[in-house]
Amino acid sequence: MKIYNTMSKSKEEFIPLEEGKVKMYVCGPTVYNFIHIGNARPMIVFDTVRRYFEYRGYDVNFVSNFTDVDDKIIRKANEEGVTADEISKRYIEECKKDMEGMNIKPATKNPLATEEIGGMIDMISTLIEKGYAYEKNGTVYYRTRKFEEYGKLSHKNLDDLQSGGRALLVTGEDEKEDSLDFVLWKPKKEGEPAWQSPWGEGRPGWHIECSEMSKKYLGEQIDIHAGGEDLIFPHHENEIAQSEAANGKAFAKYWMHNGFLNIDNRKMSKSLGNFFTVREISEKYDLQVLRFFMLSAHYRSPLNFSAGLMEAAGNGLERIVTAAANLKFLMGNAQVEKITEEEASLFAQTDRFKENFEKAMDDDFNTADAIAAIFDFVKFINTNASGNSSKEYLGKLHERLAELSNVLGIIVDKKDEMLDAEIEKMIEERQAARKNRDFARADQIRADLLAKGIVLEDTREGVKWKRV
Ligand code: AMP
Ligand code: ZN
Repeated sequence: MKIYNTMSKSKEEFIPLEEGKVKMYVCGPTVYNFIHIGNARPMIVFDTVRRYFEYRGYDVNFVSNFTDVDDKIIRKANEEGVTADEISKRYIEECKKDMEGMNIKPATKNPLATEEIGGMIDMISTLIEKGYAYEKNGTVYYRTRKFEEYGKLSHKNLDDLQSGGRALLVTGEDEKEDSLDFVLWKPKKEGEPAWQSPWGEGRPGWHIECSEMSKKYLGEQIDIHAGGEDLIFPHHENEIAQSEAANGKAFAKYWMHNGFLNIDNRKMSKSLGNFFTVREISEKYDLQVLRFFMLSAHYRSPLNFSAGLMEAAGNGLERIVTAAANLKFLMGNAQVEKITEEEASLFAQTDRFKENFEKAMDDDFNTADAIAAIFDFVKFINTNASGNSSKEYLGKLHERLAELSNVLGIIVDKKDEMLDAEIEKMIEERQAARKNRDFARADQIRADLLAKGIVLEDTREGVKWKRV
């Protein structure tokens, strides 16, 4: 299995630290609002990476945090006149609902920054003892130049950074020994959440949170550390400086970063205001379509979001779930139980689809090619399964299709559910048309539904529907 490592800028063979095990940390969202579909990209991508390791027989310890103390959370809390804790708890719950909708497996552990402050204080103290950090007026800074390998992940040169840093020097920054130094602990400001520490009341910097939570739940050395490519610098670079200086060991073996999800070729982000939340998308599409759309491109490439591409993803997914539904239907009506010799050799031919799928995934998780292998398999199913096939043979085809799709987090037996959502949407539209006295439109929708085999019944309790 090969993984592209941001550190070496090349694909490397995956060799786990411990035989049969993968220790993986993915930087999670800052929870001050509903997540947008840009945030969903690393969730979907690294859940798929995890699923593939599990498919390959690895035991995966998957840790992903929630950043639940941050300026943006505090600002939102002040706007609403509630506590920061209330904001973060609310949006963690909403985020978990979205993740479930996208079929993202629950992490082994989702640590919360606010529950790990003690460990962060210990790590900062160790850095001070070792000479890698210093305190000034209640703020603790990391002494960046002391860590000789600083810049090794982002391939940045310290002197280039320094000249950029000087230009950016702002008030208060001059208390730092060096403009490159970054904050590990900041003193309390009025109205902000704060914790007791040896340097007075305050809260941790963002970077130290991940260094500590990764260490606590996975150990000092981990296999994979991952996140969006905007985290390479400074977040991950700083995490390396902190963890390696404190622990005296190499931190993560492989650094994986997903490309951006763009809209009109600009990064989708909350600050630019050009985003769709996962919740909004779920009102228009089954979230499996979003997942399938994300995996149709390589995870390191930029991906442009558009209604047209979502439509195409929906159609592709439809082909897969329809093939699975047909197999189920044929199984229900099969006249022959046991697989025949001829069918056994036909089934053996499908090994090549599985092999192509694995080859694609082994090559740095090339999900686009893996999906192409599934499409080839679907074509095979459509021509080699029929009313004359045995139940066992059909069952084996279905099982293989479900197994490969499951690695991508796609549930193939979701056709009815997906259809139900579509029907409900059309019924709602018909109700709205009737309310607006647009009876022609309402009748048209009734006719369209009938063409799909759906009959509507207007009852006193509302509209009921059934398949005929
Ligand atoms: P944040 O809440 O901004 O800390 O982001 C949480 C995760 O989402 C990080 O791994 C980011 O790199 C990632 N992320 C944010 N916006 C995008 C985007 N437009 N495309 C891909 N990943 C993103
Ligand atoms: Zn992080």
